[in-house]
Amino acid sequence: MSRRVAVAYDQVVAWLKVFAATLAENKGYLTELDSAIGDADHGINMDRGFQAVIGKLDSATPGDIGALFKTVGMTLVSKVGGAGGPLYGTLFLQVGVATAGKDRITPEDWSAALAGAVAGVQARGKAEPGDKTMLDALIPARDAFASALADGADLPAALRRSADAAEEGMRATIPLVARKGRASYLGERSAGHQDPGATSSALLIRTVADTWAGDG
Ligand code: ADP
Ligand code: MG
Repeated sequence: MSRRVAVAYDQVVAWLKVFAATLAENKGYLTELDSAIGDADHGINMDRGFQAVIGKLDSATPGDIGALFKTVGMTLVSKVGGAGGPLYGTLFLQVGVATAGKDRITPEDWSAALAGAVAGVQARGKAEPGDKTMLDALIPARDAFASALADGADLPAALRRSADAAEEGMRATIPLVARKGRASYLGERSAGHQDPGATSSALLIRTVADTWAGDG
C-alpha cells in the first residue's frame, strides 16, 4: 500500500460529491440546529448550494483544481442566500486561490488552502475565535493540520487530526454565547446550543479526511 502524497483532481471531485451527499443526509439535522438559535434554514441552504455545485461538476475543465474550487465558490455565492452562502462561497474561492492552476494538491497546498479559507471567512464576516461561528471548527482544523505536518505526519494522519480538531471545536461551540450572525440576536440564550455553521464546517473537514485519507 502506497501512502498518498498528493490529491489528484478526481479525488477533489469525489470529495465534493461525498460532501454534497453528507449535507443532503444532514439537511434535517443542520436545520434543526439552526432552528434553536437561527432561522431554521442552514441545512436547506447548504443542501441547495451543493446540489447546484454537483450540477456544475460535469462542465468544469478537468485538471485545474483551482478553477474547480472557484466554480464551487461562485455557485454558492449565487445560489445560497443568508450569511452562509457568501461565507462558504468565500471559503471555496480562497481554496481556489491557494490551488490555482494545480492538478494535484500537496499537503503544503492544503495547509495554504485552509489558511486562505479561514482568512477569507474572517475578512468577510469579521468574526473572532469563540464567537460561535463556523470559524470555531475551521481554525482548529487549520492549526491541527499545520502542526501535524510540522510533526512529520503524513497526509492521511494530518487530515484525520484536522477532522478531529474541527469536531472538538464544533462541540466547544455549545456553551458559547454567539457574537456574530443571527444567533447573536439571542444573546445569552444562544448558549447551550451547537452552532450550525461550525457543524457543517466540521462535516466538510471530516469528509475531506474520509475521502482523501482512505487506505483503499
Ligand atoms: P443565516 O444565518 O443567514 O440564516 P445560515 O443559517 O445558512 O445563514 O448560516 C448560519 C451560520 O453562519 C452560523 O451558524 C455561523 O456558523 C455562520 N455565521 C454567521 N455569521 C457569521 C460571521 N460573521 N462569520 C462567520 N460565520 C458566521
Ligand atoms: Mg439560518
